[in-house]
Amino acid sequence: MSEHDKLRDFVVDFTRLIDRNLGESATIAEGRELVTRLVAEDDWLPEAYAQPNPKYYQQYLLHADPLQRLSVVSFVWGPGQRTPIHDHTVWGIVGILRGAETSVAYAPRPEGGFEIGPQERLERGEVVAVSPDIGDIHVIANAYDDRSSISIHVYGGNIGAIRRSVFDPVSGAKQPFISGYSNATVPNLWDRSRD
Ligand code: FE
Repeated sequence: MSEHDKLRDFVVDFTRLIDRNLGESATIAEGRELVTRLVAEDDWLPEAYAQPNPKYYQQYLLHADPLQRLSVVSFVWGPGQRTPIHDHTVWGIVGILRGAETSVAYAPRPEGGFEIGPQERLERGEVVAVSPDIGDIHVIANAYDDRSSISIHVYGGNIGAIRRSVFDPVSGAKQPFISGYSNATVPNLWDRSRD
């Protein structure tokens, strides 16, 4: 067993799932099971991809599929940090690895502004999904204001490079947004010389 085994196995399994071209809802259903297994134990995320930043929540790319069908990202939330209201444009699966988070869904109203959903609290090990079909606009926040939380996100595209939107909470006005990533290098999953 070496340090990246769990993450590599997850990437391999998810790539096989994507290769089956099951369509969005079946991919989310099976993908949720893979993410549930990955976040069941908090013993595999390398330290470098678990570091909070005092100013902004961090988005560390852990793996991107070469055909941009898939990306795996660790989100690290410092105390009290939250996203703006944002969309994704592709499906996404979020699993809580450490701490706890809150999630609020925003449904655009035809006349402008949003229908705001209830605040859900996501505990360690819980998994949720978003997509343009099932609801794509939300705010995620650290549930704690005295410690970091970490979630693992999988998306049906290279999420850091996708042109998407953030929204004004009152008017609902859209602004273009491309999130990028916080890291310049990804974990080396492929040195298997010790196996
Ligand atoms: Fe999101």
